[in-house]
Amino acid sequence: MIFTHDTEGALLAAVELANSELEPDTLSTVEELDAFFVRHVYTGSHEHSRAELDSVRALRAPLRELFGRSRDEAVVIVNRMLADARAVPQLVRHGDVDWHVHAIGPEAPLATRILVETAMAMIDVIRADELSRLGVCAQDDCASIVLDLSRNRSKIFCGTTCSNRAAVAAYRARNR
Ligand SMILES: [Zn+2]
Ligand SMILES: [Zn+2]
Repeated sequence: MIFTHDTEGALLAAVELANSELEPDTLSTVEELDAFFVRHVYTGSHEHSRAELDSVRALRAPLRELFGRSRDEAVVIVNRMLADARAVPQLVRHGDVDWHVHAIGPEAPLATRILVETAMAMIDVIRADELSRLGVCAQDDCASIVLDLSRNRSKIFCGTTCSNRAAVAAYRARNR
């Protein structure tokens, strides 16, 4: 594991969220947000409302922006995110999860919690100088953000659709 479990979990969720705004939009209904909440094992308040969905959707552009920034630029954004949310790191233990850090209470709105969790995860990424683990998919016409958590830094495509397309294109180029 490159980062701690909770940092990797927060990054995976944030990258999926940021990519969900690319066509076809995969976070357009309250049901899709419910599924996202369950898939990423969120705890705390969850309204199942259109307003909550809209506030989470509104995070996507700023997150894409953050993931594309340089290390020093990301520091400014992360510090501001934490200050705006008045984040206070606390050790917590819940369910099956041993002591880890939450910087915002479970009663805060879901969008705020996602923002703070992402900022806390980015602290680890920035401190370890590992921003290169966040990039854009190597497929020409794909704007998806790629989070590379592999040991050998081998992940360059956002998923199997893009890696398969690249493999097919390479095969065709060889056999031309
Ligand atoms: Zn937790
Ligand atoms: Zn891609």
